[in-house]
Amino acid sequence: MKPSVVVVGSLNQDIVVQVEELPREGETLMGIGMSESPGGKGANQGVAIGKLQACVSMIGKVGSDPHAASLMKSLQQAGVDTRYIMTSNRPTGLAFVTVDRAGSNHIVVIPGANHELTPEDIDSQRQAIEKCEIVVLQLEIPLKTVEYTLRLAKELGKTTVLNPAPAQMLCDEILRFVDFLIPNEHELQSMSGMTITDASTLQAAARVYLSKGVRALIVTLGGKGCCYIDHERVQTYPARKVKAQDTTAAGDSFIGGFVAGYLKYHDVDLAIELAQKAAAITVTRHGAQSSLPTWEEVAAFDLS
Ligand code: AMP
Repeated sequence: MKPSVVVVGSLNQDIVVQVEELPREGETLMGIGMSESPGGKGANQGVAIGKLQACVSMIGKVGSDPHAASLMKSLQQAGVDTRYIMTSNRPTGLAFVTVDRAGSNHIVVIPGANHELTPEDIDSQRQAIEKCEIVVLQLEIPLKTVEYTLRLAKELGKTTVLNPAPAQMLCDEILRFVDFLIPNEHELQSMSGMTITDASTLQAAARVYLSKGVRALIVTLGGKGCCYIDHERVQTYPARKVKAQDTTAAGDSFIGGFVAGYLKYHDVDLAIELAQKAAAITVTRHGAQSSLPTWEEVAAFDLS
């Protein structure tokens, strides 16, 4: 059987409104454009992994509305197996994004069907997890479902990856089932409640999670790259030098690259190299899923 990945997470239709400046409280303003595109951290990471030619399926929940159809289509076009995505009587998740000329944004998410994904649903799709090698989760579905899935995955001997986004405080019960915890700097700060100002405060925050049973952390640092920390070593990897245009989905692209790389090479350094190349390509392009690179594009990265 081909080694594979299961992403257990959210699917959201992104509704993006462009404005000159973000509105102040109570202000009504005229927008300068709007667009809709497939998103949700779970779906973005599924697409990122699929475009890198890894065998990937997704467990999640959508409504029975036109948004669901376009989200499924985007996953399928990236090669993601969608047969484990269930339908709820709640609407498909929506993310309302207001973005100004400078790229600053406000985002409001209506989770809808994503918040209906229960531990019982995970049990009903257990065969997907039994067959795979790596299980990937984020925090846009109920925390009790995340915890249940992590526990099940470890009982079945799988490698687990948790991207703790959006950041939340995590109980120790969850952490001992996590192999790779991959937050960005801001998420690590808000979930730990510790102020991160430099390498030593970052490592101190990361060590709290190692002491609670996480095997390793990879903290992404935007244009500065990322830092890997486990019980034996700490290593910083500088970012690839590119001209960044739009950092939307950089984190999802990084996770996709890391997971696809780890599945292929079973080597953290090679997986991080792939993650950083994929994320660097993503920041040179506008959009979310549309900015995620294919395997061929990542392979050609150093040649261009
Ligand atoms: P972030 O979620 O902002 O920490 O970014 C995730 C990953 O995207 C980083 O670890 C980098 O690999 C990559 N990345 C983000 N911003 C840039 C940038 N300006 N130049 C190159 N790579 C970037």
